[in-house]
Amino acid sequence: MADVLVIGAGLAGSLVALELARRGAAVELLDAGQGDGATAVSYGGVPWWAGAPGPMNELMASAPLAWRELEQRHGPLGWSPCSLRLHWSDADADGSSALEQTLAQVETLARRHLGADQVERLDPTPASGGRRLLRLGYGRVDSRQLALALPLALERAGVRRRRGHCGPLQAEALPARQVVLAAGAGCRALWPALPDRLRVSWAGLLRLDAGPLSHELLSGVALSEPNDILMPLMARRQALEQRADQLQRPQWIVDAGLAPWGEGLLLGQSSLVRPGSCCGTPPEAPSLELELRQALERIDPRLGQVPGSLVQVPVSFCSSGPPLVGPVAEAPGLWLLAGLSSPFALAPALAAILAAAIGGEPWALERLPGARAQASAGWS
Ligand SMILES: Cc1cc2nc3c(=O)[nH]c(=O)nc-3n(C[C@H](O)[C@H](O)[C@H](O)COP(=O)(O)OP(=O)(O)OC[C@H]3O[C@@H](n4cnc5c(N)ncnc54)[C@H](O)[C@@H]3O)c2cc1C
Repeated sequence: MADVLVIGAGLAGSLVALELARRGAAVELLDAGQGDGATAVSYGGVPWWAGAPGPMNELMASAPLAWRELEQRHGPLGWSPCSLRLHWSDADADGSSALEQTLAQVETLARRHLGADQVERLDPTPASGGRRLLRLGYGRVDSRQLALALPLALERAGVRRRRGHCGPLQAEALPARQVVLAAGAGCRALWPALPDRLRVSWAGLLRLDAGPLSHELLSGVALSEPNDILMPLMARRQALEQRADQLQRPQWIVDAGLAPWGEGLLLGQSSLVRPGSCCGTPPEAPSLELELRQALERIDPRLGQVPGSLVQVPVSFCSSGPPLVGPVAEAPGLWLLAGLSSPFALAPALAAILAAAIGGEPWALERLPGARAQASAGWS
């Protein structure tokens, strides 16, 4: 029997399973395996220098080192330094000063952490359709490569993987002595008493698989470079998530971005957030696809026409406060790893600390953002 059962084999569950196995625990990793989770189609951006002041900032800053260490232990997982290219046009300013303010804030923050040579404004060219660009030092984990590498890494680490859907958990009858709930948008169905601030959005994007067209676009989109992530300067997803508590009706945004995905491409990013904490159904595919294509056309006319397939996945996030990482007070032996913002920057560090806490190390319990409760730790 496993010492620890981890539920959810996305980024969060897989990384904590690897850390638990490294600490000598017998780990089982259970996943429903029904289609893509958010991890499989993520842009995988690692904004390691862009954390807001606070306890998570230090952990975010350690992300490049944490990914390199993970790769030393488990082989290539898709990490690489890259640039983030933020695009805008004068028309985006819409008469307000918000664009100039955002630009100044991002440049100041990036210069402080990266140095001036990693921050560059690029003038518009005829090929860029008049759009301007800010290029910043960044990092990314290729989610296609990660999805291919993780099963092998888990197997080599001795983690037992099992496909299956886990039903609601009961405090008095947990399926293992220690259970980690890392099921992303599925967490609330398993443990309904989670804080209201843990919410779910529906993300939509176009996925273009590897082929001559993706190759041509990867090297030929005027605003981008093959290994870089392109996003609008005024990206609206994060702001929508922060407004989630005040929403009276569903709201959705579309950001015109692009990220490499193995030899293919991920295009655009929409986000639907509903009032309340219920996941609900995804938005209607035809109207969503139309909006995505219209937004993409503005950065390169070819992107509006690509034969990419529409993918929709639920993504969990916390509308406010720290992520939910730590023991669940009402259920000794139950632990949470959910609601991370910038999870590709935070998950490596938080998974390692959580694994140490589950192993009974008091220092680790104190460092967990969601660890106000008494924990029942250890497996031996
Ligand atoms: C288009 C897009 C772009 C993004 N860009 C970035 C970015 O640049 N940087 C960044 O940091 N983040 C980004 N994100 C967010 C990030 O990808 C996700 O927040 C993160 O991958 C979530 O990981 P997770 O392990 O918590 O959840 P998931 O990857 O969703 O995994 C949860 C797993 O739990 C399983 N599960 C659920 N319920 C059950 C059950 N009852 N029983 C068994 N298994 C269950 C599911 O099958 C799934 O495999 C992006 C997301 C999207 C969609």
